[in-house]
Amino acid sequence: MKFNTKTIHGGQKPDAAYGAIMPPIYQTSTFAQTSPGEHKGYEYARSGNPTRNALEEAVASIENGKFGLAFGSGLAAIDAVLKLLKPGDEVVSTNDLYGGTYRLFTKIYEDFGIKFRFIGMKNANSIENYISKTTKLIWVETPTNPMMNIIDIVATAKIAKKHKVLFAVDNTFATPYLQQPLDLGADIVMHSATKYLGGHSDLVMGALVVKDKELADQLYFIQNASGAICGPQDAFLALRGIKTLHVRMQRHCENGRAVAEYLQSHPKIENVYWPGFINHPNHKIAKSQMKDFGGMVSFTTKGNNYKASIKIIENLKVFTLAESLGGVESLAGHPASMTHASIPKEEREKIGVVDSLIRLSVGIEDEADLIADLKQAIG
Ligand SMILES: *Cc1c(COP(=O)(O)O)cnc(C)c1O
Repeated sequence: MKFNTKTIHGGQKPDAAYGAIMPPIYQTSTFAQTSPGEHKGYEYARSGNPTRNALEEAVASIENGKFGLAFGSGLAAIDAVLKLLKPGDEVVSTNDLYGGTYRLFTKIYEDFGIKFRFIGMKNANSIENYISKTTKLIWVETPTNPMMNIIDIVATAKIAKKHKVLFAVDNTFATPYLQQPLDLGADIVMHSATKYLGGHSDLVMGALVVKDKELADQLYFIQNASGAICGPQDAFLALRGIKTLHVRMQRHCENGRAVAEYLQSHPKIENVYWPGFINHPNHKIAKSQMKDFGGMVSFTTKGNNYKASIKIIENLKVFTLAESLGGVESLAGHPASMTHASIPKEEREKIGVVDSLIRLSVGIEDEADLIADLKQAIG
């Protein structure tokens, strides 16, 4: 089945009871048993719920994985992966990371004795220098948030395999429409389904997808034992979102390109970060591992002018100033004070998250309205 069919049918079948084309929202905590242990496949809704399972199968299908697990948020999904580790284990992670992921790693898991090495990964081969006997996990995002760096998934997977280290990719920005990390050698794909998978800014959810049965069993054990599941209503909404993922992503990419090119041509704009530019440092890798370049674009104003950037953000009318990304509506954010405020200023600036940086999640509105909005806002 091709991707654009999988988003609608992958892992799905009409509901067994009445043939409902969408799975009903099984809003129940428990399921009747005829004799102890005898039931129709479900006993308690933390361990399994038919609506959630329908979503988990859909996510597994679009990522070309075998097993999907849905969580109450993206961070809950990352938390479940970290629970595979033991004190003394080490994680090699990209240094250009979603702020909440960085906070979870450094403020929670460092206290439990897990060590993190945050490194630049523009040259994937350099990752090998940071792997030691205690390294158990490589964690990457690509494209990265908010600097749009690209990490070579195939090259990283080779290093991970050679050293028998788990390799996880946060695929929130790209979505499986653009890249399928499991096919490129990753062991775990993670999503904040809050973003493009849900796609309508109406839910908070996370997901993991793997191919390996043993790894799936371990993660399922953690999902059930720690209990950070999502509810059936949110599972239903995410499933509905996934059905239009391919059409939405196509438009996100078209509008993202138009916005990136407009900004790059503007005399008041300094740097534009978007992997589709030929002079992007890893454009070639982006081209080889992604189908297109997505709808996320970051930029700075001339002379790293904080005040000018804040003015632009305040002037925007079609773009809404808000946290989050990946919904149908265009959003603008100021990483230094919003998504990345939990990263110390020196750390932030080392990777380019300067005070004038603005991050756009380009939505699927009419391209002309988006460009006109930026034009009037920048002035
Ligand atoms: C939002 C986000 C997360 C966290 O997901 P939540 O659903 O907000 O918990 C993780 N990684 C990336 C890249 C994100 O954008």
